[in-house]
Amino acid sequence: MACRLLARPIGPRFTTYRPYIRSFSTVVDAPIDPTTQRINTASAGRSVFDDAALALAPRTNWTKDEISEVYNTSLIELTYASATMHRRFHSPAAIQMCTLMNIKTGGCSEDCSYCAQSSRYDTGLKASKMSSVDSVLEAARIAKENGSSRFCTMGAAWRDMRGRKTNLKNVKEMVKGVRALGMEACVTLGMIDAEQAKELKDAGLTAYNHNVDTSREHYPSVITTRTYDERLNTIKHVQEAGIHVCTGGILGLGEKAQDHVGLIHTVATLPAHPESFPVNALVPIKGTPLGESQAISFDAILRTIATARLVMPRTIIRLAAGRHTMREEKQILCFQAGANAVFTGEKMLTTACNGWEEDKAMFERWGLRSMAMEETIGEKPPGDTDCLLAISSPSSTNS
Ligand code: SF4
Repeated sequence: MACRLLARPIGPRFTTYRPYIRSFSTVVDAPIDPTTQRINTASAGRSVFDDAALALAPRTNWTKDEISEVYNTSLIELTYASATMHRRFHSPAAIQMCTLMNIKTGGCSEDCSYCAQSSRYDTGLKASKMSSVDSVLEAARIAKENGSSRFCTMGAAWRDMRGRKTNLKNVKEMVKGVRALGMEACVTLGMIDAEQAKELKDAGLTAYNHNVDTSREHYPSVITTRTYDERLNTIKHVQEAGIHVCTGGILGLGEKAQDHVGLIHTVATLPAHPESFPVNALVPIKGTPLGESQAISFDAILRTIATARLVMPRTIIRLAAGRHTMREEKQILCFQAGANAVFTGEKMLTTACNGWEEDKAMFERWGLRSMAMEETIGEKPPGDTDCLLAISSPSSTNS
């Protein structure tokens, strides 16, 4: 596999990073030292937004008021600052391509108001049995051929994994098989305990997806069968097992702007920022309580992505469900503002997804490329011996 030089700061090299500042045009009204032409970081009186835009490392002590100030900055300033921040921590051309496969559809006992898979709503979706390990690995192989580096195959419509020993055993086989293909493996299995998290870690699991969905305040209007804290507990088990956390939300659940702030605040104040933050736009499903909802406005999606990029600079921000409803120009604005992962393939869990060919053509037009595994989890695919050399080479560039 061809090796790519990394633009994403990694390890100690990041500490030597210096932002490129043009004295005549900066994203913030920051005082510049005339001798060094660098921002005078000792200056007092900077705004929260200025501080966020100038940050050189993630922090987890954000207050809601601080995030609100960032979120409510004018969109033109906000997206410029987030685009600048994005370049400080990531290659702006690299987009992580993930493919999602549902290994068991429907029949879920939970009451998530947006979900076609809940058995409480008449959505016409038929419950299916769990997919075989072989069929999952074949789908992963095809996804890899098409450029995906992460296989989030395993969205399963379960509340939790209690009493599902055989299911967990099969999922672990799937994880091992996907990793053996040289891909990252992510699963979504509902709530898990510390022991189950450890078993998945031992099987080689890269990431676990468990969305908090929305703010703590708005959450009870969307789901009543599990609490916000139960969700946070699963995230805690995943983090403590050493598995990357993928947690984000859905926009368009009838929430207000302050709930986007609350959602970001929840994940940005975890003990460590999630490795990835999916931003979904609700795709209303007929038969669910939110089936007739108005689409969330694009500026709210963009504002959420830009704020998340400033508040969690190192996190991968995933433009998830609802992307297929966006024109290409809107997707590009999201990438400019800091989104750097997509789901690609044939289908999201139960909704449409942008296809591989469509995404390849868009990537070609805009000079984007598929993010390599070593840029996300710092691992090289089997047989690729050059990439780690490139990461540690002093000649590779971070800026
Ligand atoms: S979102 Fe997940 S937990 Fe909620 S109803 Fe759908 S499948 Fe079940």
